[in-house]
Amino acid sequence: MEDNKRRDDSSDRRPEENGEGGGLPRFNFMWVFILIGLGLLVLQVTKFSGKPENASWTDIEKWAKKGQIDRFIVVNPKEAYVYIKPDSLTVGDHATRVKSPKKTMFNADQPNYVMNIGSVEVASSKVDKINEAIIKEKKQQPIEMKIEDRINWTAVMINFGLPILIFIGLWIFILRRMGGGAGGPGGQIFNIGKSKATLFDNNSKVNITFADVAGLDEAKEEVMEVVDFLKNPKKYTVLGGKIPKGVLLVGPPGTGKTLLAKAVAGEANAPFFSISGSDFVEMFVGVGASRVRDLFRQAREKAPCIIFIDEIDAIGRARGRGAVQGGNDERENTLNQLLVEMDGFPTDKGVILMAATNRPDILDQALLRPGRFDRQIGIDRPDLKGRAQIFKVHMKNIKVSPEVTAETLSEMTPGFVGADIANVCNEAALIAARREKTAVDLDDFNYALDKVIGGLEKKNKIISPEEKQIIAYHEAGHAICGWFLEHAHPLVKVTIVPRGLAALGYAQYLPKEQYITRKEKLLDDMCMTLGGRAAESVVFDKISTGAQSDLDHITRLAYDMIVNYGLSDKVGNVSYYSMLNDSFNRPFSEQTAFIIDTEVKNMIENEYVRAKKLLKEKRKELDALAKALLEKEVLHRADLEVIVGKRPFSDPTPGESGHVPEVGTPSSDEAA
Ligand code: ADP
Ligand code: ZN
Repeated sequence: MEDNKRRDDSSDRRPEENGEGGGLPRFNFMWVFILIGLGLLVLQVTKFSGKPENASWTDIEKWAKKGQIDRFIVVNPKEAYVYIKPDSLTVGDHATRVKSPKKTMFNADQPNYVMNIGSVEVASSKVDKINEAIIKEKKQQPIEMKIEDRINWTAVMINFGLPILIFIGLWIFILRRMGGGAGGPGGQIFNIGKSKATLFDNNSKVNITFADVAGLDEAKEEVMEVVDFLKNPKKYTVLGGKIPKGVLLVGPPGTGKTLLAKAVAGEANAPFFSISGSDFVEMFVGVGASRVRDLFRQAREKAPCIIFIDEIDAIGRARGRGAVQGGNDERENTLNQLLVEMDGFPTDKGVILMAATNRPDILDQALLRPGRFDRQIGIDRPDLKGRAQIFKVHMKNIKVSPEVTAETLSEMTPGFVGADIANVCNEAALIAARREKTAVDLDDFNYALDKVIGGLEKKNKIISPEEKQIIAYHEAGHAICGWFLEHAHPLVKVTIVPRGLAALGYAQYLPKEQYITRKEKLLDDMCMTLGGRAAESVVFDKISTGAQSDLDHITRLAYDMIVNYGLSDKVGNVSYYSMLNDSFNRPFSEQTAFIIDTEVKNMIENEYVRAKKLLKEKRKELDALAKALLEKEVLHRADLEVIVGKRPFSDPTPGESGHVPEVGTPSSDEAA
């Protein structure tokens, strides 16, 4: 069943040993530690074999009286070293008791005997007593007790060195365990700062082209420039044209962001480094930053090339947020290093950074500044047409019976993303193979769909027909309000394709620089945002959870208007903006708080009533629009003009904050 084998793009992933020769066996540092350990052990053994015998006070008295003692040195509070005069070493009991002193680096001045003295006071009184006797006899010199601070190197090494060695050994062991995966065993610890990027270059080519990426026409057009640049960097550098350094692909998971980035590399025939943002963040301080450095170093060597960072939000989250808990220093260091590296290479060096995220709103603003990720490309969930195209791409690799068309499958899969579709095709092929069919038929696809949808339903991504109808009216409600409210910003696109929470466009539609906005515009925006829920109420006489993000948005807007912009008569011309930011305490009284709350509720309620009234008046248009949405899933401005007629007002000036495009859909909000 050759035909049934879907090409798996992960199979051409061939991790390379981080661009380093790889062939030579690496010198294994583990051996150094093992050797040091062995050395210490040997030392320990010899030390014991040559350890001097203990002497007693009787011995000392006896030897002192014979004049055999050379030095008597107290080396620590409990121990004294006894040195016998060299010419006496061969006489008496010394001949047997003294072991030939072994001289090593650590014990150059080995004593002949050691003694347990109990304490320095005891020793000193004993020595005094012995000396008294000697002086009385007048035959020999009294012995002199010296106190010296000696470091017993062997003991030090054993007592401190060994534990440290054991600790290091353990550490290496743990690192290896954790480091696991790529890179193979051994030497892992010295690779910890190396980037884990997978490299696709001449040896392991990216053989994905734009033909493998279905739909996404606008996105493809945008990245075409990058391809062109990579293919022919000279053309651009000569003219001094500015090429984006960083391209941020924004969209829900599975919509083909990685695929698109790979296709860019494939089209340009350029090396492609692929890494996930989370790969940078380890539990070790400084690792992330050094991995970033390493990645860019490698990339510069391979330039022109593409670095693709998936899930960039793992490192790119706004700095300083939630700093209270601490512990994100490591992430911040990594992000800082990334910013430094991005600033550090001139565009004409030919390293282009592509990154993917589905949470552009949480990214640090510094990342989005010009010269960094200054180009954002939104990648939406595919609509009916897009899904059909994706089905076509994936059906090319399987043998499908003629009654199955991409169009029928596309109709059956609202809300699916590319990854889901690839999954369905693969499943269907597997099922057909199991059933020993010669071609994959509709029955197999149905079975596969059930299976995939079953998995997706758990994740709450799939919409039932009833839900679809509610969404259609909800979205149509927004659109109608936007169309017929003078100051609202009409939507350029209405869609019932579910979008992930906080999906794309958010940053584009909400300009960070505040333009001056008039109150009636804000109120119309509020009315339009409430239009979704209002439509549900007008049409079904029921409301759903689908408006959560709408409500969230307008509640904030209403408070902003009243508390920060002084747009409420009852509260007056006050702004608590900086005071609210500066202190934990409310800068206004309980009474004012009450008035603010009532004003917020009143304002929202007024707009809700206004939206419902408007929608009742325009019920015919609302129904027509919802119907069209159910059929086509996506409507553009031109379609709107056909369905509901020309907009009775001229559009408000662009740049003013408009209706925030639907973030969150009924289905995804239900999960919240
Ligand atoms: P993302 O990076 O957005 O999470 P991927 O690029 O990893 O998604 O997509 C996963 C898989 O889904 C791809 O390998 C491909 O098989 C399939 N896929 C996604 N989008 C498309 C598309 N537009 N055309 C063809 N296949 C797609
Ligand atoms: Zn809505």
